Amino acid sequence: MRPLLEIFSQGEELVTGQIMDTNAAWLSQQAVAKGFTVTRHTAVGDNLSELVSLLEAIAQRADCCICTGGLGPTSDDLTALAVAKAFNRPLIFDAEAYEQIARFFANRQRTMPDSNRKQALLPQGAERIDNHWGTAPGFSLQHGRCWFVFLPGVPMEMKHLFHEQVLPSWPQRFALKPGILITFKTFGAGESALQELINTIEVPASVQLGFRAGTDDVHIKLLFPTDFPQQEMTALIRDFSERLGDVVFAIDGLGDSAGDLVFEVDKLMLARQATLAVIETVSHGLLAAKCIGCDWLLSASYQQSSIKSEADIDVMVVAEAMAYEHKKSTAADHVLVQLYAGDKECLHNKEKTIAIYIVLLTATGLHKVSHLIAGPIGRKQNQAALLSLDLLRRYLSAKL
Ligand code: ATP
Ligand code: MG
Repeated sequence: MRPLLEIFSQGEELVTGQIMDTNAAWLSQQAVAKGFTVTRHTAVGDNLSELVSLLEAIAQRADCCICTGGLGPTSDDLTALAVAKAFNRPLIFDAEAYEQIARFFANRQRTMPDSNRKQALLPQGAERIDNHWGTAPGFSLQHGRCWFVFLPGVPMEMKHLFHEQVLPSWPQRFALKPGILITFKTFGAGESALQELINTIEVPASVQLGFRAGTDDVHIKLLFPTDFPQQEMTALIRDFSERLGDVVFAIDGLGDSAGDLVFEVDKLMLARQATLAVIETVSHGLLAAKCIGCDWLLSASYQQSSIKSEADIDVMVVAEAMAYEHKKSTAADHVLVQLYAGDKECLHNKEKTIAIYIVLLTATGLHKVSHLIAGPIGRKQNQAALLSLDLLRRYLSAKL
């Protein structure tokens, strides 16, 4: 059984939505990577009785809890007081903590306000976590089945203290077996379509299957326990790869680190020592912007699409002719042309779709795709850039 970890964030500004709880997200990633099962994230405002009952509950149900925020000098910083009440441990003045806080102010030639003395009060039996980056020291203590760690809310301070004083102590306190995470990075199919593709694969109960849809791609994750038989793991990964087919542009966790679609295209272009020239319409320069620093992109120009209606003309034929024409004046190995039919209204109106036509002219021939793209203009631009790069990716990885 993986040890259970909870994260709890304190602050009125979190529950009222004025700031995002980035601490919880960051800490979760660290904990999952080290082999914890993260069971809950909770955010609580400046309310003492809520804090007390939450601490009591966590002490019964989790093995580790990391709490951030509420360690400051002001009256709304209630964490230490809540711990004192929940676990019946009076607050005790910690002379060393006080010295450190006083030094923090002296080093900055500032007078220490009286209120900062409060930060030197720690629950009885707590272990102090020294803070060299701010005023509030953190602290840790064991209560019930749970080891609690209390860190300041300021993300930079929290991360330093976590790396310095929490992470190194985990292996001594918990039997952690970090799992093996395999991520299939896909482009071109939605979550439900991907689910359909893998529906018939039997995933063992000990393997966690998860989906994560981003703006650019969808990830399918398989988290294997450390002791999962290697052969079975290889077979399952192969099954997934085969079923998913060419929507997978990279697999992360097998050795080589896999990046986003542009990163993978970059790797392929460098391996082939190939160069590219682009004419983009829908993506308005976004394709070129995604490839900043990629020397294989010899040129990229934006053109207005002048084709108003698909009824009068075969857009793909126009795109092909443009690619051949452009090839005459460029030294690039490959030419990519993107066109669409429709007026400005179609492009800007999020209710309307546009049809995009992409042509890739290479030494071995012509490759082409067309797609319907929907949504606000920003999404249409992004999809157009990615669909174009994906055509290139599929050609380069010989999946065309
Ligand atoms: P301080 O001594 O600075 O008061 P603290 O431990 O009391 O430290 P808070 O007062 O709760 O921390 O938060 C300080 C600042 O840190 C907040 O104003 C906010 O900008 C940031 N912060 C706090 N909690 C979070 C969180 N969960 N995610 C992201 N940022 C946070
Ligand atoms: Mg504060």
